[in-house]
Amino acid sequence: MIHYNQCPVCKSSDIQYAFKAKDYTVSGELFPVWDCKACSFRFTQDVPAQDTIGRYYQSDNYISHSDTQEGLINKLYHRIRKITISSKTKLLASVSGLSKGKVLDIGCGTGAFLHSMKQAGWEITGLEPDDTARKNAETLHHVFPRPSHDLFQLEKGHYDVITMWHVLEHVHQLHEYITQCNLLLKENGTLIIAVPNYTSGDANSYREYWAAYDVPRHLYHFSPTSMKTLVGMHGMKVVKMKPMWFDSFYVSMLSEQCKKGKANNIKAGSIGLLSNLKALFNTEKCSSLIYIIRKK
Ligand SMILES: [Zn+2]
Repeated sequence: MIHYNQCPVCKSSDIQYAFKAKDYTVSGELFPVWDCKACSFRFTQDVPAQDTIGRYYQSDNYISHSDTQEGLINKLYHRIRKITISSKTKLLASVSGLSKGKVLDIGCGTGAFLHSMKQAGWEITGLEPDDTARKNAETLHHVFPRPSHDLFQLEKGHYDVITMWHVLEHVHQLHEYITQCNLLLKENGTLIIAVPNYTSGDANSYREYWAAYDVPRHLYHFSPTSMKTLVGMHGMKVVKMKPMWFDSFYVSMLSEQCKKGKANNIKAGSIGLLSNLKALFNTEKCSSLIYIIRKK
């Protein structure tokens, strides 16, 4: 178990307890969530260490590993994934200015995004810690990911774009990952990090029931300010933030189940919509954000 005495991002000791959140997916256990007063980072306290957290991923429901299409929420996940993969592919071309380049996707899951990049003519590399997900990537998408620790063996200065789609919040070696991404990128390369945003409208509505807290698998809960602080500590800067519109609906549907124990898609839809309306006027209020990051 890891007990933090300092903020995992900025190392300030000005940290305090905020509330307890429940693991709704696997264990039903409660975990304390803490705030950093200095950089506004929020984190799960007393989390299992890297070598013992595996059992909290042991669930048939853990969708990014299984690729199951059963049930309404999983069906919606796959429908949305098709659309978001296409918009991610376009985003990479626009941020890099390249029609074909070299992309590294960290935590590539079953490889659907990399498959799409390969079809667009990009040279792809994928990393994935879960054995089942790696095997599924091979059979489902003809993508051949390497284990995650290979991150530290890859060629430096090689990649035009490195992506982490809802991955960094799961990573124990937070600072090491950002340092390594900086080293692996070309001088004008782009790092793309997508994470949930606990300062969003839907997070505010659901508070401790907000599904994107997803304790203890989500070790970290980013605000835009804390993400800027983190990458700034490693010689990089956030140049742009982009909203992920579908996440507010998807997360609200899950949150409604967490809170009431049953689906209420009308309530979830209205909270998701309200969150997006706020984000329309202020990107920093979106349920999930894509941070576009470059070297300083
Ligand atoms: Zn901090």
